[in-house]
Amino acid sequence: MSDSTPFWGPDFDALTAIDPEIATVVTDELDRLREGLQLIASENFTSPAVLAALGSTLSNKYAEGYPGKRYYGGCEVVDRAEEIGIARAKSLFGAEHANLQPHSGASANLATYAALLAPGDTVLAMSLPHGGHLTHGSKVNFSGKWFNTVAYGVREDTELIDYDEVRELARQHQPKMIICGATAYPRLIDFEAFRSIADEVGAWLMVDAAHFIGLVAGKAIPSPVPYADVVTFTTHKVLRGPRGGMIVCKEDLAARIDKAVFPFCQGGPLMHAVAAKAVVLKEAATPEYQSYAKQVIVNSQALAEGLAAEGMRPVSGGTDTHLSLIDLRETGVTGKDAEARCGAANIVLNKNAIPFDPEPPAVASGIRVGTAAVTTQGLTDGDMKEVAALIGRAVRESDGSAAAEISAAVGSLVSAHPAYPRD
Ligand SMILES: *Cc1c(COP(=O)(O)O)cnc(C)c1O
Repeated sequence: MSDSTPFWGPDFDALTAIDPEIATVVTDELDRLREGLQLIASENFTSPAVLAALGSTLSNKYAEGYPGKRYYGGCEVVDRAEEIGIARAKSLFGAEHANLQPHSGASANLATYAALLAPGDTVLAMSLPHGGHLTHGSKVNFSGKWFNTVAYGVREDTELIDYDEVRELARQHQPKMIICGATAYPRLIDFEAFRSIADEVGAWLMVDAAHFIGLVAGKAIPSPVPYADVVTFTTHKVLRGPRGGMIVCKEDLAARIDKAVFPFCQGGPLMHAVAAKAVVLKEAATPEYQSYAKQVIVNSQALAEGLAAEGMRPVSGGTDTHLSLIDLRETGVTGKDAEARCGAANIVLNKNAIPFDPEPPAVASGIRVGTAAVTTQGLTDGDMKEVAALIGRAVRESDGSAAAEISAAVGSLVSAHPAYPRD
């Protein structure tokens, strides 16, 4: 870049002048992020560098195809972003092949199924009510409509994945693919056990690492990459990148995966998002990020312990990751009410079904909390004790009388560690 080529990027004054309504949405949302405690387990705060790539003119470029093999001219510059990103993904995850183009986690899963399965094939995956994902065979999703899905769950006594049940179901149903990885499972997954079950029945093993890939990137938990045929993930959860998806796989599946992403499932890639993925892959390879990933888990365990002390039971007795699933039945408050009461106090979390939940999903007996975002803003395990006490108070306060007081306490906690500083 020469000195005469200024960066042409996000111009908030232009947005305000052209569209004050949307400009206000943007600033109100920033205020909401700054003023509350963001405990949604799938969210994080992206860095200014990632946001700069996302807000760049790379958004303009049509680049159907892959670097060096595009269907449009003028791709030689954006090719560099994708090549750099692919090299970083392979190096960070020790993967043989990487595809940065999936628009989302759901798109990455769709492409993987398209690459390895045919409609009507049998897939063995974790049941949604036990923590699995919509795209792992729910009847309201393409995965449940197009494949014959068989579900495994957790044991009622331990609330841990029942590997004996997984092996039993695999032998019985002979799935073409086995999927592990979840949205609401707080424990480590035994990828080696899943590999051995998949090998026994000749199934592909897909690991959907959407939630925890950031912890893998930060070397805080074991990697599924050596065990899985394909690992899919989102780039916006603990990993802290732009909203999007990614796939890594063995070299012998590279061509099948690439063709499934484009042209089978998608058209042109979002090159600004691909560039932003490259940025986060660089950030995630640093010692700072590795400390972050470890602190996310330390904070998560402190929060789970704090909530247990408030009479709220962590499902499975605790957590090994960034998230906890909390059984509220002892408090007599439903997940739905707890979410609303915490929300009124600027504590943002979600209701969540617990395994064997007696309540319907729209009510739920639990909440799910994650520490990826609060750790990014610099809160520590000491702060998590206070956060747990504030949640305990908010959940128990049925008449809302303490909401203002709790949100004031939230305000002073987060203003000491702003999500996005004001200057
Ligand atoms: C979040 C998530 C997804 C979906 O990601 P989107 O980007 O929302 O499509 C897929 N699988 C799992 C396990 C997830 O947690």
